[in-house]
Amino acid sequence: MNFADSEVVASILKMDGYKLTDKAEDANLLLLNTCSIRDKAEQTVRNKLKNFNSQKKENKDLKVGLLGCMAERLKEKLLDEEKIVDLVVGPDSYKDLPNLLDEVEHNQRAVNVILSKSETYDDISPVRIHNNGINAFVSITRGCDNMCTFCVVPFTRGRERSRNPDSILREINELNEKGYKEITLLGQNVDSYLWYGGGPKKDFKKASEYQKLNAKRFSDLLELVATNFPEIRIRFSTSNPQDMTVDVIETMAKYENICNHIHLPIQSGSDRILKKMNRLHTRQEYLELIKKIREIIPNCGISHDMITGFPTETERDHQDTLSLMEEVKYDFGYMFAYSERPGTYAARHFKDDISPKLKQRRLEEIITLQQKHSFERNRRFINSKCSVLIDKSSKKSDDYWSGRTSENNVVVFPKYNFSLGDVVDVKINECTTATLIGDIYKVKV
Ligand code: SAH
Repeated sequence: MNFADSEVVASILKMDGYKLTDKAEDANLLLLNTCSIRDKAEQTVRNKLKNFNSQKKENKDLKVGLLGCMAERLKEKLLDEEKIVDLVVGPDSYKDLPNLLDEVEHNQRAVNVILSKSETYDDISPVRIHNNGINAFVSITRGCDNMCTFCVVPFTRGRERSRNPDSILREINELNEKGYKEITLLGQNVDSYLWYGGGPKKDFKKASEYQKLNAKRFSDLLELVATNFPEIRIRFSTSNPQDMTVDVIETMAKYENICNHIHLPIQSGSDRILKKMNRLHTRQEYLELIKKIREIIPNCGISHDMITGFPTETERDHQDTLSLMEEVKYDFGYMFAYSERPGTYAARHFKDDISPKLKQRRLEEIITLQQKHSFERNRRFINSKCSVLIDKSSKKSDDYWSGRTSENNVVVFPKYNFSLGDVVDVKINECTTATLIGDIYKVKV
């Protein structure tokens, strides 16, 4: 999401006459787009800032700005804590950047961290930065109303707002004309997308008015994109189980160009912990949703996010997480040790009582199990044919392309005369936990 936001920022500054440079040393303005999701993300930013000290000593004109969630969370305090910072701008205030930079030019430090109920950057056509020209992100919602007790996002990104579908289609059309082959529709909680003319989601209370207002839900948006751009592969992230509806899965099944992959974070396999996290579904409801997905799209790639060591997590809760993973057998997962975030409900009400050592041990156990499952899931592709969109050179060898299947598996295979952006049928010969390895598929005569 920060990647997509940085492209919006680049576009706003380009309109104001700024130019992008590839080399930080050449810049007179450095902007760091920051993440607050875990403490480690913030520490990474603080360390990066230290690296800029020597550059600032050499270049007196250099200005440094902090954007994004850390800016929103810490506000003016950041100016006190990080003397090198001239500018602090929250995620809804990027259109104010030209004014703020004017203030900074006049040797003032500037801050704008006002959150909005309407800002979606609808009218900005993002400048694609360091992009392969193949995959692009397209934001469809901003903010989050889901108040998971561990999560800082509602505080740093504000209320949930959906973007006008016309402006989404316009952006995808531009990408299509530039030759992009795959887009990822982005939001904290894409399944709760709802366009009824603007405004925060929670202001729209009567479901019965959907039809009257010709409101668009996420499945409607997916269908619109899929039918308007049959040549483009469509992905989306992130789905929240409590908001994902069957019509989304059915729409995925209906259109070949919507990829068969769902990222469906659960965070814990224990009902007690899910409740404490304010995830508004049970383990059973989640498993039923997985069952539905596999009924409708049998080969669907499914991935997850998991948190270990949430306050009060017992060994039994942890075993529930492991057994849930055994039941689902995910293709992939992002796994984290719980990091207390100031201001969240969990930080205010629950003691962070699981020791770092125990969090780590549990984390290692779920990572090991996930690797085993990823390997098992990858093995099912051996000897089969996959359709792969080439998106980069393989990291390990320049003689190989790397691309992804519809299910989101990474595939590497020899380059031959293929080019970036080609869709190639590959026969899978072997695999690791992370990669399928194959060769082009030749039909036997
Ligand atoms: N809106 C997305 C989450 C985005 S954050 C969703 O609900 O799925 C990505 C992941 O970071 C989360 O799914 C969660 O697993 C992890 N995360 C969020 N807050 C965390 C915290 N306080 N400590 C550890 N991991 C956290």
